[in-house]
Amino acid sequence: MPKTGRNDPCPCGSGKKYKHCCLKKDRAAELAPAIAQRVALQAQKANQVALRKDYQEESSNAVVDLVHAGRLDEAEQAARELLVRYPEVHDGYDRLGMVYEARGQFREAADCYRKVIEFTRANPEDYDAGFVDSFLELIVKLEACATEEERAVNDDDRPG
Ligand SMILES: [Zn+2]
Repeated sequence: MPKTGRNDPCPCGSGKKYKHCCLKKDRAAELAPAIAQRVALQAQKANQVALRKDYQEESSNAVVDLVHAGRLDEAEQAARELLVRYPEVHDGYDRLGMVYEARGQFREAADCYRKVIEFTRANPEDYDAGFVDSFLELIVKLEACATEEERAVNDDDRPG
């Protein structure tokens, strides 16, 4: 079937030129499958992203549960898994910090929270200032705990 030219009479028999009649409609019909496919692909991608986000959040929550249950070795493993699997979020460092905190390893915990802050600075559009502030406060507190503990150990060692 030869293609109707823009200035040819419209094949629908309206008597108008094709470009003033059915051209637009026919173009849309031609493009429809490609557009539908693109929409479907986008929806699929959005689903995958949503699913990944769901898994990531579940895994992150699982670490919190493990910490609260006192299962710290499992929690650490799960936190490290988070770091590897989901490098697009700060959760891995956050959760690893929680594990160290629960173990009383204050300096290691502070280091993890510094990584969280580093991450937020690399992705500033995803975070508000309050988020960073809360981690900064936590780091100060943890460093103070670590210093106090070290002082207590030194006092114990002192003779007399
Ligand atoms: Zn027409």
